[in-house]
Amino acid sequence: MKRMYQTISLAFLILGLAVVPGVAAQEAIQVVDEGVEANFREHLTFTLNASSAVKIVEADLLYQVVGQLATSRNEAEFTPGASIEAEFKIDQTKPENYMPPGTELNYWWKIVDAAGNELRTEKQTYLYLDNRYEWQTLQNDRLTLYWYEGNDSFGQALFDRANVALDTLASDVGISLEDPIKVFIYASHEDLLRALSSSAQEWTGGQAFTTFGVVVIGVHPSQLDWGLRATTHEMSHLVIHQATNNPYRGLPRWLDEGIAVYNEDTEQLVDDFAPIFDEAVKRNELMTLRTLSSPFPGDPLLANLAYGQSGAVVKFIIDTYGPEKMGDLLSIFAEGSLDDEALETALGVNTDGLDNAFRASLGLPPLPGTANDAPVEVPTEEAESASAEMANPVENSGPTPQPEAGQSSAAELPAEPAPPAEPKSSPFGLPCLAGLLPLAIFGVAAAMRKF
Ligand SMILES: [Zn+2]
Repeated sequence: MKRMYQTISLAFLILGLAVVPGVAAQEAIQVVDEGVEANFREHLTFTLNASSAVKIVEADLLYQVVGQLATSRNEAEFTPGASIEAEFKIDQTKPENYMPPGTELNYWWKIVDAAGNELRTEKQTYLYLDNRYEWQTLQNDRLTLYWYEGNDSFGQALFDRANVALDTLASDVGISLEDPIKVFIYASHEDLLRALSSSAQEWTGGQAFTTFGVVVIGVHPSQLDWGLRATTHEMSHLVIHQATNNPYRGLPRWLDEGIAVYNEDTEQLVDDFAPIFDEAVKRNELMTLRTLSSPFPGDPLLANLAYGQSGAVVKFIIDTYGPEKMGDLLSIFAEGSLDDEALETALGVNTDGLDNAFRASLGLPPLPGTANDAPVEVPTEEAESASAEMANPVENSGPTPQPEAGQSSAAELPAEPAPPAEPKSSPFGLPCLAGLLPLAIFGVAAAMRKF
């Protein structure tokens, strides 16, 4: 009796297996061949050859950008039949389809035949690279640097600096990388523009594609110094956005840009911004922090001041309140807090209070109408001496910086670029004014004429 029971069970088990739909489907539909072919900025094409005992009526290509949640489902083009050749093409000449170099896609096919059998192929990953260049790479577990012009030491210098920038973000700002990132160095501004979406602005000097984990930037080997700063700046945006991304609110502009500027040189404001900032302090013409919370001015000179001041405020916070408080502040912003709430919770001051503390450190009077909000808390002696260094920034300013020779490529750009202001946050890419070649050239000289 017991033996009989076992036999019957086995029979049921076999029958049961035979009627599981997935198993039957996999036997019915066969993938003969599949592949991906791409030409950067032209197309990304997925192909499939499949066959079945009956007519195949549906072939969908599904893909997901690695690091993003959304899945895109697309009907492929094919002639229905027992054997099909299907193709799905992503037209990369259309700005709305643009994907930066280094985009990684997970993709799979869903195939259905007339008998209702369905087959989903296994997920595969495709790395979409700019195949017009022979890329050299340097890689570790958090970063891959790609470049095609310039020798090994050029690439190594950028790679090393990028790693220092990541270390600084961890030690001074309390944020570390969530997913590995890719940095692409194009050898000229023209090459960079040809790699960006056709909707990219002429003045774009670099772009951080936060949701793709990619930074692209134009750095000729003769522009290494500028390139080290610009790469650091754009990469900082990417890491900040990875760490603070939330569905509610972006960071105040001064904090986002200020961290990126601070990371370019943690000791002092870089030459692009120092002279105009120092002059504004001297003349008591700083912008208010509340103004700097919104998109920066479109005027390149005021934009330079906005960047410089933001960098100085971030340095002030780190030196005065300490890196841990800065880390707290960013964690609170990551939850989508309002500006004043986040500042009060992390630092004990609201936007005006922080503004006044910063102004006091520079020897400036409090903002009009806010004198009572201006108690300056300086937690440690170390912080006091550090903020004192910032108290006389004019003493630190060197001679008016001259444009670097390698930046001459920007001469082809309009003399008055008047770039539009940046959006407060963008899910896609962050073209950054501070990465601008025109600003690097025209900004300081013009600013000095103006003041
Ligand atoms: Zn920026």
